[in-house]
Amino acid sequence: MAVTRTFSIIKPDATRRNLTGAVTAKLEEAGLRVVASKRIHMSREQAEGFYAVHKERPFFGELVSFMISGPVVVQVLESEDAVKRNRDVMGATNPKDAAEGTIRKTFAESIEANSVHGSDSEENAAIEIAFFFKPEEIVG
Ligand code: ATP
Ligand code: MG
Repeated sequence: MAVTRTFSIIKPDATRRNLTGAVTAKLEEAGLRVVASKRIHMSREQAEGFYAVHKERPFFGELVSFMISGPVVVQVLESEDAVKRNRDVMGATNPKDAAEGTIRKTFAESIEANSVHGSDSEENAAIEIAFFFKPEEIVG
């Protein structure tokens, strides 16, 4: 299987609780390699643009407010089948449904404050990576 990339965000609930390293350790233990990483505080415009696919959903406004409530860490992750590998270690969206040992089961506070974002397809991963990173910022 080919080495591929996915996009990850360590969300404000996790940075607030000083869990950047703990979350990253889970990613690395799952075999994902961090090939780009930066801590940013998203503007409202950035968060609305990033989550544009969700703009008709009832929780859109709250989600944007949450994502700009503190710093986040945006990352590019690389491994074989990176999208699926990352989704597996993240766990289900709602931590109540997430499997033991996953990031969301271990760290998430709620369905909204669920510690991490991960791309849901290779196509979206490429779009999301380009949203936050220049090619020269990614060093594999
Ligand atoms: P992500 O896209 O962040 O990796 P996901 O793909 O598991 O998560 P989505 O359905 O894409 O879940 O929802 C995007 C984000 O919106 C979720 O991670 C969560 O923070 C928030 N969210 C999803 N469903 C709800 C809900 N019912 N109420 C509040 N927030 C929600
Ligand atoms: Mg999603």
